[in-house]
Amino acid sequence: MPPARPLLLDLAPEEWDLGPGPDFRRKQLADWLYQKRAASLAEMTNLPAKLREDMASRYDFAALKLVRVQGSEDTTRKLLWELRTGDYIESVLIPASLDLFGERSDRFTLCLSTQVGCAYGCRFCASGLEGFKRNLTAGEIVAQIIETERTTGVRINNLVFMGMGEPLANYANLLRALRFINEPWGVGIGARHITISTSGLAPQIRELAQQPLQIRLALSLHGATDAVRAQIMPVNRKYPLAELLDACAEYQDKKRKMMTLEYILIERVNDMPEQAVLLARHARRLNAKVNLIPYNTVEGLEWKRPSDQVIDDFAAILKNAGVTATVRREKGHDIDAACGQLRLKQLQADAQQSSVELRA
Ligand code: SF4
Repeated sequence: MPPARPLLLDLAPEEWDLGPGPDFRRKQLADWLYQKRAASLAEMTNLPAKLREDMASRYDFAALKLVRVQGSEDTTRKLLWELRTGDYIESVLIPASLDLFGERSDRFTLCLSTQVGCAYGCRFCASGLEGFKRNLTAGEIVAQIIETERTTGVRINNLVFMGMGEPLANYANLLRALRFINEPWGVGIGARHITISTSGLAPQIRELAQQPLQIRLALSLHGATDAVRAQIMPVNRKYPLAELLDACAEYQDKKRKMMTLEYILIERVNDMPEQAVLLARHARRLNAKVNLIPYNTVEGLEWKRPSDQVIDDFAAILKNAGVTATVRREKGHDIDAACGQLRLKQLQADAQQSSVELRA
């Protein structure tokens, strides 16, 4: 059942129905929502009580309910949320010091989900195992930032769209969320501190290139030829490498931003020296750096992490070809950080719970 009332965070201030009253109330309300990260309408003490009552009857205020926080030794925290529809999503908070792209920084990064489940079925990813359920709304995307800050007390200053779902498959809501994140009345994180990671939807990469926002792009490549990539990324059958790399070249041309090529190293699947040589060629063409991610074992999937020697040799081929390459010793490795895994565990726990209830 869809929720009866619209979500306040899905609407821009000019779309809020505040009834009669001065227009500055919009600014006050936006301030409470986005700057002060208010947890309830009751906190918004400079708004008249009648207005707060009316708003409570017209809109839903909370998009997410925190179900579980899983932390790890390096203080990466994974937050599992329940949506108003009863679906689960997750966000990952990555602390300062080393960000996802191998750069030293003093930032707190939040990895955001954009869909419930995912239709793209990348073979290393738990999100794809359950299939696609629905797109997140703009408010549900933005609420992950606000609620994480409220829950952890951390001020987030860097965003990566790399959680559950393919962000570019939810293009309209993604663009709307980016507006809410960027606007002066909104969350206040600049486009330069936002990275969108995609499995490779070539048409949407071209569309994004036309947007004025200076957003960074990370491409999940994972294979340097069609034959190898298609084994890992089914999307490659729809958008083969030649078409995808052309779209990325167009993005790079327009934005002049350094792209990142993500490459999960999987034993005897894509860790061969020939793949490294071709990967270096693609990276040089796109002026991209390469982020090598040794495979993170996923329960129920058959692939393995290569040996340290193979990983080092692969990275050396890239470096010798003049490509900047980082081996990401994955943060959160010990907390099931591959996207979708925490949600999957919750679904399994729920399934076990209901089978226990049925047996009782
Ligand atoms: S890696 Fe991303 S695009 Fe691929 S199945 Fe997982 S969530 Fe979907």
